[in-house]
Amino acid sequence: MNPKKVYVFLLIVVLVSASLHFSPKAITYIGTLSYWNSDESTIGKFSSTTGGIGVVIANSSNTTFNGYFNSGMTKAEAKWNSALGTSFELTTGYNSALPINTWGGKLSDILAHSYDFSIYDFDSTTTGATKPLSYSSWGTFKYWPSGYYYVNKTAYYLVRTVSCVLDMNYTVNYESKTKNTCLHETGHALGWFGHSSTLGDAMYPLVSVGLNLSDDDIEHLEQIYQNGWY
Ligand SMILES: [Zn+2]
Repeated sequence: MNPKKVYVFLLIVVLVSASLHFSPKAITYIGTLSYWNSDESTIGKFSSTTGGIGVVIANSSNTTFNGYFNSGMTKAEAKWNSALGTSFELTTGYNSALPINTWGGKLSDILAHSYDFSIYDFDSTTTGATKPLSYSSWGTFKYWPSGYYYVNKTAYYLVRTVSCVLDMNYTVNYESKTKNTCLHETGHALGWFGHSSTLGDAMYPLVSVGLNLSDDDIEHLEQIYQNGWY
């Protein structure tokens, strides 16, 4: 084995070890998908379809924002549950045992929160951000687009720790944008990694005023949540 091959081999060992950090199982083939609407090759799913979404308002002094945020999260919960057949429920306040925690407030308040937000690539231009904090390698599958080829995709099994934040500096004066951001970030939290390239989808990367899930938004996660691969 020449030096270059040894280097490559060691790199692979490191990557495989990292991917198995939260799970003793190796990645296995888990099926074939019909839809792929994301620009990333990963997708996620929680092990249970029940659980809470904690809603934490970092700056409760702005009652207008609070109203938009709480209403937005209520709509997001209802729309995604309806689309996926899940039973995620909203709760109030941060709880480390919940699968999803969502913070809303001014950027300065969010960053000053006792919880560590340094994990986010979050600055003054960010409307919202979502970060899965732990997940297990779950499997790979074939995605069959309309052509005569398939590509391998990877799935992660979310382990009760996804966090979202929402910056009211960019949404407080826009009720529909606040609610759209709630819908968008909740989609990420439920396993929609990456973004849609279709303007008008809730999972399009730029905030819009739409408050509905498109077929693309729904199909992408629905096929993961409803096929019983766990
Ligand atoms: Zn996004």
